[in-house]
Amino acid sequence: MAGRTWIVIALGSVAFSLMAVNLVLATRLPGVDRAFRGLDQVYWVHKWLGISILVLAFNHQYFKIATDGLQVMQEISKLAITVAKVSFYALLFLGLISFFKRVPKMPKITWEIPYGWWRQTHRLFGLVFLGIAFHQFFVKAPFDNNAFLATYLNVVALIGSAAFLYTQFGFLLRRRGFKVVGVEKHPAATIVDLAPKGRGLTVRPGSFAFVSFSTKGLGEPHPFTVSQVRPDGGLQFSIRGLGDYTKRLRDAIAVGDSARVEGGYGRFHHHSGGPRQIWVAAGIGVTPFLAWADHVRPDDAEQITMIYCVRNPEEGVALDRLRAAQERVPGFKLVLHCSDTDGRFDAAKLVSYLPFEPASASFWFCGPAPMRDALLKGLKALGKTPGSVHFERFEFR
Ligand SMILES: Cc1cc2nc3c(=O)[nH]c(=O)nc-3n(C[C@H](O)[C@H](O)[C@H](O)COP(=O)(O)OP(=O)(O)OC[C@H]3O[C@@H](n4cnc5c(N)ncnc54)[C@H](O)[C@@H]3O)c2cc1C
Repeated sequence: MAGRTWIVIALGSVAFSLMAVNLVLATRLPGVDRAFRGLDQVYWVHKWLGISILVLAFNHQYFKIATDGLQVMQEISKLAITVAKVSFYALLFLGLISFFKRVPKMPKITWEIPYGWWRQTHRLFGLVFLGIAFHQFFVKAPFDNNAFLATYLNVVALIGSAAFLYTQFGFLLRRRGFKVVGVEKHPAATIVDLAPKGRGLTVRPGSFAFVSFSTKGLGEPHPFTVSQVRPDGGLQFSIRGLGDYTKRLRDAIAVGDSARVEGGYGRFHHHSGGPRQIWVAAGIGVTPFLAWADHVRPDDAEQITMIYCVRNPEEGVALDRLRAAQERVPGFKLVLHCSDTDGRFDAAKLVSYLPFEPASASFWFCGPAPMRDALLKGLKALGKTPGSVHFERFEFR
């Protein structure tokens, strides 16, 4: 077999294998989450694998193997080639849609495909994979059906197809039914309390979950951090109205509505953070810290300083719970930084609030990325870089 033929086969095989890997990553299985240290990392790898697949598939298609005259092809092999062509153009089309959703900050391109459309079209990648699996199985390949490569590709097809089916229907096993038992319209967030209808979920403080409601217009699952994990299995979410869905939720949600929750996900857990910890929450980024603060205990050995940045005290969510943690736990100190009266929060202010040196502490942050970058840059300039840095993003990269 000519070298070029092998290269084309290798391009197609690698693209097909990476597609299967991407389908496995999309399952959100706990092992996947753990291996990549959080779903946002999983989605980052998923995005770059997707881009690589497009490049490989383009080259596989462009430098296609010349079959004319080499063998008499059966009808099914011809169909397999047609299916591959259709799958390739579908892959290209879906790839472009994903690109414009995922790389919205291109110069002069501010329009973004709505998340709901993106999500629905993204599901079709699984069908494209099935089309390519059909292609690899029935196309007249220039090697024996029992060859190692043929067996390998069949195994890849099986794994990818199983992952796709799990992604489409696995949620029926993973999600649990809840009931809305409390709604508080706080100025900075809508605070929604849920009680499990049956078996609840095991959620660690600091984790997030995908939540949807039976309420009209709120059926799409969105990720929110659990801001309170109660011993009776109850969960609380504090949701800021930042877009269409979250603003609609504030108006529409009511006690008695049903909810579906899938989770918990994420690796934002401060217990690995050592004896001195700095927690910095900005705005609605307070949610993981609220769940953590509920769980700190008087005999905890950690020394924790939490700085909660808001414009004014009215913006503070669940301040009573944070203050209760401060009273209960000698090692827990709360600083409410109100920018209206205390000015801009920067690295020098952060250092002034701490009873210990940042270099001896771990730094935990949830809030806007530019604020995080400015704080870390400022701390570095002061020669006070924290021992370790951990942060939660409220968006998948
Ligand atoms: C891990 C994580 C934890 C979060 N925790 C909280 C929290 O505790 N409280 C809070 O107020 N917000 C939280 N968010 C942010 C919240 O998910 C978004 O503000 C919300 O989904 C925006 O939806 P929208 O339709 O109102 O806004 P839009 O303006 O339509 O969307 C804004 C952006 O949110 C993302 N997004 C929209 N819909 C979805 C979806 N269904 N799934 C995933 N991403 C989506 C997209 O990147 C989109 O560009 C969290 C986000 C993540 C990723």
